[in-house]
Amino acid sequence: MGKQSSQPLADQLRSFITPFRYDGSGEFHLKSYKTAEKGGLDKDKGEKIIEANRKRLVDFQEKLYAQDNWSMLLIFQGMDAAGKDSAIKSVFDGINPQGCEVHAFKVPSSRELDHDFLWRAAIALPERGRIGIFNRSHYEECLVVRVHPEILAKQKLPPKLVTKDIWRERFEDISAFERHLARNGTVILKFFLNVSKQEQRERFLERLEDPAKNWKFNMGDIAERALWAKYQAAYQDMIRHTSTQHAPWHVVPADHKWFARVVIGSTIVSALDKLDLQFPKVDKAERSEFKQVRQALLDEDKEKAVKPAKKGT
Ligand code: AMP
Ligand code: MG
Repeated sequence: MGKQSSQPLADQLRSFITPFRYDGSGEFHLKSYKTAEKGGLDKDKGEKIIEANRKRLVDFQEKLYAQDNWSMLLIFQGMDAAGKDSAIKSVFDGINPQGCEVHAFKVPSSRELDHDFLWRAAIALPERGRIGIFNRSHYEECLVVRVHPEILAKQKLPPKLVTKDIWRERFEDISAFERHLARNGTVILKFFLNVSKQEQRERFLERLEDPAKNWKFNMGDIAERALWAKYQAAYQDMIRHTSTQHAPWHVVPADHKWFARVVIGSTIVSALDKLDLQFPKVDKAERSEFKQVRQALLDEDKEKAVKPAKKGT
């Protein structure tokens, strides 16, 4: 990154993170976050940052895996066509698949509905040393379920537990769950891909017009689009109540896909940088053991070299 590379990473990337992060301090109004922001960059500059962040991510991920203490949970939410799938594909391009797992949360199965709403998220959490990516998440429980009361009605909850307080209770439970994870070594970053209704329209039209994109179009998406205002209100309330210092939301401007990737990649690498990850150190005793093993391996070669000579005589 040329001239800037002598600056600490957090300083280099701050302007792509801080304006979009909400950690629960102060007020939150979704309307004050622009969807078409470009952070003073053009696409070319943006692509360079995206590529530099990918390299950093590869490096940090290897250390995270080797050190095996921390894990990272990345949560992606957004309206249909906000770019969740393609952002995940782009930001994690080139990452070792062994250290990272993506879970896409769809309509819950009957088995999942037989458990509490956090169950399926809990069993999908990343192990230590791993990066877990949630493409949609437990937050759908305060989004699609809130916008569609008929979904809540089918959740088999004991009726007397379903009161007007249910959303506040879910926010509290999610926050407690995430605090517990953070206290056990999971770094949590949450991304709301904030796309405009106009941009969603463009992307839906592309999906309808381009045969290679037809498969991405779902008739149900149009019905959800009609509920845009209700979703925006649900997102705002969710971000207000579940943003914390240990699990902040990032309201990512998503009308320009490349800028969304700048913000997401920068946020992730900056958080990993703060962990000061190191490859595990080898102690003195182990080093001397390594020396002996190395010598034994070298000696194997010598033995081999001697053997054929013996055979010939
Ligand atoms: P997509 O991400 O476009 O493949 O669609 C997944 C669908 O599953 C979306 O329509 C979500 O709203 C829906 N979904 C995800 N989680 C839940 C949930 N907890 N309850 C109901 N629907 C959900
Ligand atoms: Mg979809």
